[in-house]
Amino acid sequence: MTNDIRPVILNAARTSIRMRSRVVADVVRHARETAPAECCGLLLGGDAAIEEAARTRNASDNPSRFVIDPADHIACRRDARDRGLAVLGFYHSHPRSGAVPSATDREEAAYPGHLYLIVSLAADVPDLRLFQLDQGNFRSIPFVTVD
Ligand SMILES: [Zn+2]
Repeated sequence: MTNDIRPVILNAARTSIRMRSRVVADVVRHARETAPAECCGLLLGGDAAIEEAARTRNASDNPSRFVIDPADHIACRRDARDRGLAVLGFYHSHPRSGAVPSATDREEAAYPGHLYLIVSLAADVPDLRLFQLDQGNFRSIPFVTVD
């Protein structure tokens, strides 16, 4: 089953996480295409870095929320496993608010230890911030962009 792929990177005591620059570019592009609605997707990678952002449909019809489409979620996990990548977490956009978890984000976060990347389009320059769900709280984690 898909649950046997644990996000090993998350269990290590890390002070920062590496993220490929294409992940940043892809997430920002997806957010801009989807605005004013929120976009969402999965973060794939391994021990070394967040390697890819995999788009999913947003199953919410409320433009200020996101629900990762369940079928896309399953398909993405299967595809990642086939390619030897782990699902490290999720991303979504805040078209008009800052890159911090909303009350709804906190209520609906369901994957302990996973990474949650939020991209905000509220300012002229997109703002990306990374969090880890740690015992029900979002803990901010710095990331380093690498080519
Ligand atoms: Zn949010």
